[in-house]
Amino acid sequence: MTNEPEWDSIVIGGGLAGLTSGAYLAMAGKSVLLLEQQAGPGGCCMAYTANGRTVPAAAHLVNDPDLINGILRELGAKEIVFTPLDPAFEVTGPCPGKSLIVTSDSEVFEKSARELVPGVPLEHVHMGLGRLIELSRQIHHETRTLPLESPELMSFFKRLILGLSMQRKLKGSMEYGRMPVQQILSSLFPGDEMQCLRAALRSVVPVHGARALDLLQLLGNVVENNIFYPDGGVESLIETLTRCFQAHGGGVRTVAKVTSVDVSGGAVTGVTLAGDISIHADQVSSTSI
Ligand SMILES: Cc1cc2nc3c(=O)[nH]c(=O)nc-3n(C[C@H](O)[C@H](O)[C@H](O)COP(=O)(O)OP(=O)(O)OC[C@H]3O[C@@H](n4cnc5c(N)ncnc54)[C@H](O)[C@@H]3O)c2cc1C
Repeated sequence: MTNEPEWDSIVIGGGLAGLTSGAYLAMAGKSVLLLEQQAGPGGCCMAYTANGRTVPAAAHLVNDPDLINGILRELGAKEIVFTPLDPAFEVTGPCPGKSLIVTSDSEVFEKSARELVPGVPLEHVHMGLGRLIELSRQIHHETRTLPLESPELMSFFKRLILGLSMQRKLKGSMEYGRMPVQQILSSLFPGDEMQCLRAALRSVVPVHGARALDLLQLLGNVVENNIFYPDGGVESLIETLTRCFQAHGGGVRTVAKVTSVDVSGGAVTGVTLAGDISIHADQVSSTSI
């Protein structure tokens, strides 16, 4: 076996991040090998099989389609058609026979919320929902002040300035990023009689340990009409990126689980795959391990 680098760069993981960074590297003329442990690339954007069960794609909707199409254009890939979605969700279940319609139309949103809690004075629902929407808008605008550039690629000075200004610019995001989602819901919609509405709103972010910020960010995108469905589903985005990566000369190896990143004398030398197979490269990048 030789220790000569076989590739300029190895990318671990074929999700959106790995495919995008791999495509940029390949377009820049690097020889790139992408290693994916599953049977195909896609990560959270494709169905995958674990312990004999097939799990459907996690992601379905996207925000900021112009940003995505801007990246595809830069990479020379075909742009994707996005359809705006409104209402974004219809939450059924917490109270039988009724649903919460999560939409940018505040009247329809509020009407469906009231129907979930028929015994509650109308102004209580109106006040709670009004405040929730106002906070969602605030968080949406705060999030958009964040730079798109990755902090890792910024100079120390720029990172310092960003860190200091975040305290001031992202006041709401910092506060609600620490708060459990149940806490904001209980303060805006208190009492047993509001339980049904709280449960419906909680299930908009169906993740264990969700924070108030998760709900506010999602609702912020709804009320600001920033939710889109990619034609062909998120799978089409993965297929487009995979084709683009390969068209720039990138190699994809699937069913290839990386077990370690190899280092010698303080420098990366490559990776080892399950089965003790080593692949040498000058550079290794990963969002996964
Ligand atoms: C339930 C859920 C719902 C979501 N819904 C949305 C949504 O509607 N809209 C939205 O914009 N975002 C959504 N997201 C977030 C979005 O899916 C992710 O931000 C994005 O897909 C992450 O891409 P990624 O490339 O960073 O990671 P992943 O998609 O996780 O990709 C990582 C890849 O690395 C591979 N890998 C890991 N370890 C190894 C290893 N050792 N060797 C080889 N390969 C390895 C994995 O198999 C995987 O394919 C959702 C996420 C979840 C969990």
